[in-house]
Amino acid sequence: MVPTYRYAGEKVVVMGLGKSGLSAAASLRASGADVAVWDDQPASLAQGTAKGFRAFDGAAAPLSDVRAVVWSPGIPHTFPQPHSLAVKARAQNIPLTCDVDLLLEAQTDASVIGITGTNGKSTTTALTAHIFAGAGRKVAAGGNIGIPALDLEPLGVGGTYVLELSSYQLELVPHLACETAILLNITADHLDRHGGMDGYIAAKRRIFSYQRPPRVAVIGIDDPHCATLYEALRRDGLHTVWPISAKQIAPGGFYVQDGKLIDTTGSRPITIIDLTTVARLPGAHNWQNAAAAAAAARASGIAYDAIAEGMRTFPGLKHRQELVQQTEGVSFINDSKATNADAAEKALACYQNIYWIAGGRAKEGGIKSLAPLFSRIRRAFLIGEAAGDFAATLDGQVPFSRCDSMEAAIAEAGALALKGKLPGATVLLSPACASFDMFKSFEDRGDRFRAEVLRLWPHKTPGHEITA
Ligand code: ADP
Repeated sequence: MVPTYRYAGEKVVVMGLGKSGLSAAASLRASGADVAVWDDQPASLAQGTAKGFRAFDGAAAPLSDVRAVVWSPGIPHTFPQPHSLAVKARAQNIPLTCDVDLLLEAQTDASVIGITGTNGKSTTTALTAHIFAGAGRKVAAGGNIGIPALDLEPLGVGGTYVLELSSYQLELVPHLACETAILLNITADHLDRHGGMDGYIAAKRRIFSYQRPPRVAVIGIDDPHCATLYEALRRDGLHTVWPISAKQIAPGGFYVQDGKLIDTTGSRPITIIDLTTVARLPGAHNWQNAAAAAAAARASGIAYDAIAEGMRTFPGLKHRQELVQQTEGVSFINDSKATNADAAEKALACYQNIYWIAGGRAKEGGIKSLAPLFSRIRRAFLIGEAAGDFAATLDGQVPFSRCDSMEAAIAEAGALALKGKLPGATVLLSPACASFDMFKSFEDRGDRFRAEVLRLWPHKTPGHEITA
């Protein structure tokens, strides 16, 4: 746990008692702060009071002697409607901060690599930390990746925090000062929380604010929003700007051509690794993540060999094109983390003869953008609230079934895939939707997919290797 002594003897309110809120409350209390907690959900509040924290009723209690409100980034504080506690705190000039900011304030001697983007943050964060650890660096990864920032170890001088930062968190980190800041990509997501696309881009852009030397700004140039930001960053002259791309040559940066990851930041291009040989980083989207991780490693002086070795030994992450089972020639892939069409597109592009399980709580734009990949789908199995809309989009182009549950979808998809015996047949859960209509979280959805697949098909075909 990272102690947060700056608030010793001060009153602090922790708002929102998910994993990161509870972790912040524990660190603050252990460091001598007077902590009160609040959550609008009675069950979550009860988790805090059960741990001995005083409940703070934001509606009734005065805020006058409160030093800071540690805000859970998932709770709206501006758009679409600010929570009343946020309004009250701001009216009294009480800062809203988050657990990541407390870490940054407490650990100013350590280096910080910040990673954001609409998609690929967790993979890039985990891969970067894996490369650093393999190179013998003192490193810890946390933030939005699911490990609360204050649950990490204090690293101090010579240590590096690799922090995954969501757009929500970026609005709550006034002490952010990254040595290396990475923005992978921007596509429309979470627009309601940022008052539209401009607000979302502005939140993402904050990753480059107040950078510390060597002020390396790494930015994907494969989407129009980031490409525009790249030009703006180059013009402002404040950063060393390294473009990354999985689609085009990126002079002065890192790019992937025919699977080869090439560094052109030096006097001559260096090929770091052939990514087509790295099974745990499939698809051009993962090549963008690999380019970003390589850039972070080079900015910290890690040798090319160590970068290549880190990529070769990367174990991958759960719920991101995770190969759960291979039996009788059929692969079962858990890509539950694909909560929007853009993420699902990446997985669909990696396979042929797909039995696609999709649906859940719909995101902006539906699945119309996936039409160029429809020819890869043998049949879709639609679940959740979005099933009707998805069916309307697929109608006449892709055969589909509407299924009452994910378990029913798995059984039907698996049986058809096994019967069809098509080459490379893949049962793919890549929902293009949020999970909250039927599951607690995308992790819950993915865990249930894995459990059901392994229940129905417990045995691997001998000789099959997990390759995805
Ligand atoms: P995030 O943490 O930003 O949500 P993840 O690394 O968890 O991203 O990946 C989530 C999903 O997004 C993956 O399953 C994949 O489908 C897709 N994805 C991963 N990397 C990228 C990328 N660089 N560009 C677009 N989509 C990606």
